[in-house]
Amino acid sequence: MFASVVIDVSTSKLEKLFDYVIPSDIQVLKGDRVLVPFGNKTCIGYVVDVKETSSYEVSKLKSIIKKLDSSPLLTEDNLRLCFFMQKYFFTRLIDAIKLCLPPIVTSGKVKESFIEFVRLNTDVLAAKSSKQLEILLYLKEYGRVRKEDILSRFSPSSLKTLIKNGLVVLEKQKQNRTPQNSFTVEKKDIILNDEQQEAVGRISKSKYNTFLLHGVTGSGKTEVYINVIKKVLKENKTAIMLVPEISLTPQMFARFKNAFGDTVAILHSGLTQGEKYDEWMRLKRGEARIALGARSCVFAPLKNIGVIVIDEEHDGSYYSESNPRFHTHEVARFLAYINSCPLVLGSATPSIESFYKVKTGEYSLIKLQNRANQKELPNIEIVDMLLEIRKGNVNMFSYRFLNELEKCLERKEQAMIFINRRGYSSFLMCKECGYVPKCEDCDVSLVYHKEDNMLKCHYCARRYKVLTTCPKCGSSSIRYGAVGTQRIVEELKKIVGDVPVFRLDNDTSKDKKEFVKTLESFNKTSPSILVGTQMIAKGHDFNNVTLVGIVDADVSLHFSDYRACERTFNLITQVSGRAGRSEKEGKVILQTYFPKHYVYRCASTYDYNAFYKREIKMRELSHFPPFVSMLRVLIVGENEEKVRLETERIFVSIKGIRETFSSDFVYLQAMKCPKKRLQGNFRYEIMIRIYKKNSEEIISQIYDICRITKENKISVFVENDPQNLS
Ligand code: ADP
Ligand code: ZN
Ligand code: ZN
Repeated sequence: MFASVVIDVSTSKLEKLFDYVIPSDIQVLKGDRVLVPFGNKTCIGYVVDVKETSSYEVSKLKSIIKKLDSSPLLTEDNLRLCFFMQKYFFTRLIDAIKLCLPPIVTSGKVKESFIEFVRLNTDVLAAKSSKQLEILLYLKEYGRVRKEDILSRFSPSSLKTLIKNGLVVLEKQKQNRTPQNSFTVEKKDIILNDEQQEAVGRISKSKYNTFLLHGVTGSGKTEVYINVIKKVLKENKTAIMLVPEISLTPQMFARFKNAFGDTVAILHSGLTQGEKYDEWMRLKRGEARIALGARSCVFAPLKNIGVIVIDEEHDGSYYSESNPRFHTHEVARFLAYINSCPLVLGSATPSIESFYKVKTGEYSLIKLQNRANQKELPNIEIVDMLLEIRKGNVNMFSYRFLNELEKCLERKEQAMIFINRRGYSSFLMCKECGYVPKCEDCDVSLVYHKEDNMLKCHYCARRYKVLTTCPKCGSSSIRYGAVGTQRIVEELKKIVGDVPVFRLDNDTSKDKKEFVKTLESFNKTSPSILVGTQMIAKGHDFNNVTLVGIVDADVSLHFSDYRACERTFNLITQVSGRAGRSEKEGKVILQTYFPKHYVYRCASTYDYNAFYKREIKMRELSHFPPFVSMLRVLIVGENEEKVRLETERIFVSIKGIRETFSSDFVYLQAMKCPKKRLQGNFRYEIMIRIYKKNSEEIISQIYDICRITKENKISVFVENDPQNLS
């Protein structure tokens, strides 16, 4: 017998499978991790196929040295997913395989963890001192007790002596490092309303199909997921529940633990390697049957999947931006397909792409029209910041907001201030009239490049001179980019005196524990204010928050990104959803220089449909997804000249493809990336937009070109419809 093996070598660009002879004394299965000779080294490999014949000359084939685990690490579904990713996302097989394993397996030895217990091994009268007697009496009463427990109550040295003399025995028991959760939520007995019941019914009845569950925040989508999963478990199947990393809040865990206890395994980035491994093993052994976690949880080792849920499906984090790059939706869809089970995409603000698929009939729409608690959504009030300037207020807070803030704090309630700051982008804006320069060809905001003091379009590389005076009103007061959280906090402290102000942003919450701690402190402190970026926008449920301020709504509107409007709309909806979640009414103050912009009009009236109509028309007119496929080829390396030459080579080859498919190309251009250097590497890109009709064929040809990189030390990535163009 022969095995087809993927070799785990990270430096090489190998995508080849190698055949090895399976020695007659070991049984090798598909999915096994094995040790094999490779060149003059010994390498780890993964068996992707076992077969009776090899197309290579058998006498030249080497043999597998040994199997590394008692059973295959990769499931059959895992392997199919890996091949799918290789084909559709330009993912290297080995990188895809690693996504399916807990990181600890690929990086080193797994240590199992033990709990120590002690129990009595004699009569209590054997005690040699009063201290020993205390311990023996305690053990007599309580039987087998955790060693830690004894250590915390009695003399450690006495226990040690007792163990040494055999009067007390020490026993070790393997423990699952199940992540602890300090948060609890009250268990509620919920009777689903008619809309929810119908949703659960439709999803549970379905085989392979994608449902878009569209319901405002608080409409009870999570209850729908929970009830669908309950049905799935009854049929002895398993479930995957995906949430954006950022909204993996303690509340969410607690709700799932309440509903499913140990049947749910939780995988997120805050876990230690050991915890991750144990949770993963619980899934693999079938002890846990629900995998709850961020995007990589779609690779959990589950068999017989009955439903896959992607909550907040519009969230950008479902697109993996670092290698390997993939779209969680597409992976989940393939997985649903091979398991013939439904895929549920839930959101209050579905992505334009997903909603378009409802219109084309590819997805089925399920709507939840009402909030489960029958409460109105908070009122969103738009404040015109240009008017503020004219009134003489040049601060970052409007009079309206300060007024509401004062009232909120007087009522001993809480406020959240949302700062819209994200990523790389900086733009220019006229402080007098709000004018923002845009690309004449693409109608997206231009990015300010400090290094060469130019404005550039990300989509077509057109360059423009930096403004010194506003072409619209002639003013020379031009603002560069956004304000940061720190400045806001400083400003705020001057205004509110000693009211506690908490801050959460990328700088303060690298550490998950810190993050949770800040949230907990905020939760307990009233009155108080929480200032934060995107990470406070989602999932959190604070009963006493009655005011939300969006200080700088326009920032994301001016990202040089065709999704800028969509992101802004989503953010406002999400952030607003933080206010007035309990009995108290909530209010949202949205500050903008463009009070009449359709994004704000639609968001403030919670009118998703109107927004969708405007947005989809724009996408069609300007040839952006979902009407075209957009690809970015990223060429990265230390030596700029080599990077440039490689870019040139690929660019020329793609131009060759364009000759055959000339009417399919909307756009093809090579340029330096907006972030030209990152971590010592130079970065060039080729941007491509092609109509959907022949896109599959063209993309596959582009992949082929990009696979043959001759240059050493240069990496080529292809991103299919990238979310973030830095
Ligand atoms: P979503 O996920 O759409 O934001 P949730 O499922 O979190 O909504 O529900 C919002 C709140 O309403 C939660 O506190 C939930 O417990 C409650 N809830 C949901 N469905 C019902 C129901 N049918 N009856 C009573 N309360 C409900
Ligand atoms: Zn342009
Ligand atoms: Zn102006």
